[in-house]
Amino acid sequence: MINAVLPTYTRAPVAFVRGVGARVFTEDDTEYLDFGAGVAVNSCGHAHPHLIAALTEQANKIWHTSNLYQMPGQEKLAQRLIDSTFADTVFFCNSGAEANELAIKMARKHFAAKGEAEKFHIITFEGAFHGRTLATLAAGGQQKYLEGFGPKAAGFDQVAFGDHKALEAAIGPQTAAIMIEPVQGEGGLRNVPSQCLKGLRALCDAHGLLLIFDEIQCGVGRTGKLFAHEWAGITPDIMSVAKGIGGGFPLGAVLATEAAASGMVAGTHGSTFGGNPLATAVGNAVLDVVLGEGFLDNVNRQSINMKQSLERLKDTHPDVIEEVRGSGLMMGLKVKVLNTDFVKAALDQKLLVIGAGDNVVRLLPPLIVNDEDVAEAIAKLDAACTALEKKT
Ligand SMILES: *Cc1c(COP(=O)(O)O)cnc(C)c1O
Repeated sequence: MINAVLPTYTRAPVAFVRGVGARVFTEDDTEYLDFGAGVAVNSCGHAHPHLIAALTEQANKIWHTSNLYQMPGQEKLAQRLIDSTFADTVFFCNSGAEANELAIKMARKHFAAKGEAEKFHIITFEGAFHGRTLATLAAGGQQKYLEGFGPKAAGFDQVAFGDHKALEAAIGPQTAAIMIEPVQGEGGLRNVPSQCLKGLRALCDAHGLLLIFDEIQCGVGRTGKLFAHEWAGITPDIMSVAKGIGGGFPLGAVLATEAAASGMVAGTHGSTFGGNPLATAVGNAVLDVVLGEGFLDNVNRQSINMKQSLERLKDTHPDVIEEVRGSGLMMGLKVKVLNTDFVKAALDQKLLVIGAGDNVVRLLPPLIVNDEDVAEAIAKLDAACTALEKKT
């Protein structure tokens, strides 16, 4: 008999009923260290007092009004994102895939509004993950996710990661944009080097294309800057954001320049729940925390701390760990055992980590982790590696 909840996930046999900081607890109060953060969502950790205060204060005022009226919380959050980034305008939605849907629509409309409707193709990269809707699946281009869902949505041309020649060859009169994650998440924690992001910007400028960054996983402080592309010193035309921006409340956003957004006039897009008062109250609270004094310094400090410890761990367990990857607090271990076995071994040590493509295990702690949290995670990973060595 089919499960009451559609069985599209392979779930670990454990349920968490409360959390605080970087820790979560089961009903019988067993403590787990959370280095998955709900897939890079709980950016401020669990039960952050400032986020709780913002959500409960808003819950006592008004929950929902629809976008047919002025939305003061949205205006405030949009202006703060604009003040901190390249963007001139922001649209709010509820998830990453929805944000990417709009990023794609916006790029197409930009050209259509100029009378160039034939320019609707978007170039993406192998190993990309952009979401599970029909268009974002086509953008991600992963056969295992596309299989059985009918013809792949038209207008997505995929090239190999890092293949500059193939990229240039893929640009044609139909190309509207290039879309990329500055750090691939699901694909296995691959950083796009700053030089390449700069090269993409130059290529887009030379060909009159829009550059779209998917910062759904790597944004909102995850790499030690507010947005990952800041490390490269260049800016996109359109950027999708979700996961960490809501700190655990569903919230997504598309940020864009005025020029890129030029086609998106009244009636061209919408969302019933998008940017609702509860979501934007939490989004504003997340920004208070992430933009607060010393917050990103901690991300960078713990990142160095974690990277050094992971490299030592790799030297201690060369038969289990092949490579340490990633940046900021978005790190990965390419392992020599099955990554699913590694995730289970970590769970046995009461440590939550997450699998990714290319047989990688992702470490995505809340951005508030301290020295003790990282030291404890390393000790648990050490024990997990030892257990895996005994099995083989
Ligand atoms: C998670 C993710 C998405 C999809 O976000 P959803 O909220 O699950 O729809 C898209 N792009 C990237 C890079 C992601 O990590």
